[in-house]
Parts: sequence; C-alpha cells; structure tokens
Amino acid sequence: MIKLPEDGNITGRDIGEAEMTLLKQVIESGTLNATKGTMVKKFTKTFAETYGVAHCHATTSGTASIHTALAVVNPEPGDEVISTPITDMGGITPILYQNAVPVFADVDPYTLNITADTIEPRLTKRTKAIIVVHLFGKPADMDPIMALSRKYNIPVIEDCCQAYFAEYKGRKVGTIGHIGCFSLQQGKHMTTGEGGMVVTNDPDMERRARLFIDKAWGYGDPRPDHYFLALNYRMTEFQGAVAYAQLGKVRKVVENRRRTALKLTDMLKGIKGLYLPESTPDSVHVYWKYPLIIDTDHFGHDVMEFSAELKSKGIFSAPRYIQKPAFMCEVLRDKRTYGRSNCPYDCPKRDGEKEIVYDTKSYPGTMKALEHVLVLPWNEFYTDEHVGYIAQSIKDVIKGFGK
Ligand SMILES: *Cc1c(COP(=O)(O)O)cnc(C)c1O
Repeated sequence: MIKLPEDGNITGRDIGEAEMTLLKQVIESGTLNATKGTMVKKFTKTFAETYGVAHCHATTSGTASIHTALAVVNPEPGDEVISTPITDMGGITPILYQNAVPVFADVDPYTLNITADTIEPRLTKRTKAIIVVHLFGKPADMDPIMALSRKYNIPVIEDCCQAYFAEYKGRKVGTIGHIGCFSLQQGKHMTTGEGGMVVTNDPDMERRARLFIDKAWGYGDPRPDHYFLALNYRMTEFQGAVAYAQLGKVRKVVENRRRTALKLTDMLKGIKGLYLPESTPDSVHVYWKYPLIIDTDHFGHDVMEFSAELKSKGIFSAPRYIQKPAFMCEVLRDKRTYGRSNCPYDCPKRDGEKEIVYDTKSYPGTMKALEHVLVLPWNEFYTDEHVGYIAQSIKDVIKGFGK
C-alpha cells in the first residue's frame, strides 16, 4: 500500500522558505494590517496582473468573497439569486445574508455544473444574479450563460474557488462573468489557511467591492464616510505574505495536477461503466479533485461500496461528494435564517411572489450526479507511481466486482 500526499499537511502542500522569508518581513515591519502594510497590496496587484484582470481585492475567505460579490450586486430584499445545489455552503449562505433567496438550477449529471438550459427556466423578474461554480476545476459552459446574462441583463458571479487558472475557450474563468471569486482555504490550489479574493474588470463593481470589504469607509475620498452597510473582510499582512509566496507556485501546482490527472485519464480510458472528467483545448480542467462518474447499474455496486474498496487500498475518496443537494441541508430546508422570521423567504417584500419550494423531483440531474459521483482527492505532489497505484487500485476494485 502507498501513502498519498494530502492537502491537509506538508505532504501535499508546498509551504516553506519563500513563505517564511516574507512572513519574517511582516513581523519585523511591525505592520500586521493591510491598510498600512504592503504585502496584501503586492499580492492583489500581482494576482490581477498574473490573471489578466483589472482589479483584485483580498478577503478573509471564499465565503467572504462570494458575500462581497453579492453586496456589489446589491439585491433588494426578497430578490432571487440563481446558484447550484452541488457546491460548498459558503457559496450559498451569503445570498441569504444579503436578504436574497437562493434559487437552484439543476446540474448536468456528467459535469456537475449548471448550464444555460437549466438556468433559464428558473429566471424570474426578481432574479438579480447568477452564481456559476466551476466545480472540481472544470469550467462551466460560459458562452450560453453569458448570452442569457446579456438577454436578461443579469450579472454573473463566477465561483472559481476550485478552478484557479482553468480556461474556457482561451479565457481564464473568473474573467468571463462580471465578478470572479476565489478561496485560499487550506485545500485549494493555493492557500493561506483561510482567505480569498474577488476580481473584476468593472470599475464601479471594483469600488463597491473594495468598500464592502472595509466597512464601506471611503479611504482617500475628499469627504470620506461609511457609505452603506458593510463588514470587515480585510486580509491580514500574514495572509498577504503567504499568498504572495503561494502565487509564485500556483501555476506549477496547476500544471502538475493537470499532467498527472491526464495520465490517470489515459490509464482508465475505455473501461466500461466509467465516465472520466474531460479536458479539451476549449475547456481546460485544473483538477481540484478528480471526479469519476460511475455506472453503478453496470457494476452492481454503489459509490459507497466503490469508496470502501478504495479505502482498503489507502485511497480516501468522497462518494456522493456533498452527500445531499444544498437545499436539503437544514439551514435551507427549514429556512433557519433571521430569528423565526424565515426571511428572506417569507419577507413582506416578497408579497405576491411565488413561494420557493425545494423539491428533489425538480432536480433529476443533481440527484443522478450525487448518486454516481466518486470524488478522488488530487494533489500537485502526485508522482507517476502514485497515479499508477490509483489506476491499478480502481481496476482491482472493478475486477473484485466481477467486471
Ligand atoms: C471552498 C469553496 C468555497 C468557500 O471558501 P471558504 O474559503 O472555505 O470560505 C466556496 N465555493 C466553492 C466552490 C468552494 O470550493
């Protein structure tokens, strides 16, 4: 049995001298806060340049980044925001914090991403934003989604927490919609433990994002004030230092993950009953994870059994990924929001609006996806030997199932 590198500790994270040197500079400078410091500024400026986007601002998490994006959109209480039922909850609860109602589009059962076809039937006159998640690092099909955005004049927020440097038709995800959001949490392509960024090319959106992250205080304005309701989502200089060092490594991380993932795809190609994640020149997958879609009828075993067999070989996969659609989690299912009000669902500002009902029957793609997906962990330190071991283990499990 082989021990695979893990993103939870140093076996699977490239954190060392470069981070230490910059952290030491921060400590020695005595400036730990980004308002007066230089590290966060240096990081965000360099990230924007590297990513080819006009503006980048740092936040305290991916969740804070999504919250910032929604505050930029500034929905009226009771408005609606479209998202996906298969994502991190941190991509959804900020909708409620801005007093908007999450409405879910179904996902494609093979890519697990929402599509223009599943989004359009969910649009109403109250839809104020669409959040598109590039799940596992696979770009969503953005052209038709941007066409919808233009047709109905609805901004698109791209959740790129799992998709650093993923490309759609030659463009980096996060720069196709109106605002892009990133996370620097421990397990992402680059990390500061916790942290995040928002990027945009729109100067008005940039200003509102910058303000929202910093209590909406108009630094540098002739007559600054606290202009609107906002929080403190400022990143520290410690995080800025580590982020800047990590930025020097992230493209290599993406390259390594892609190289080894494509190798696994080669090794598993042609096995009946397995659908493998696709990466094409038109859609560059960056493999935050490696999702396998398994034809459980063909194998006569479900993804739980698949996962248990892999575990006995030292491979810790996630069957069903998030287990259930986001709208079946208690917070959304029981509308546990503000006191006992059920707001914004039952907000008086929604008077006369159709009630939002979350019903699994309306989400065949989502239910099918969760039933068939087995998510393999992926890591930039995987070697050819690791990949060979993973491929052989999967083949052995299948053989054990008599297929
Ligand atoms: C990680 C993640 C988030 C939340 O990021 P945090 O930094 O954990 O708050 C949101 N959306 C997606 C798709 C994620 O993977």
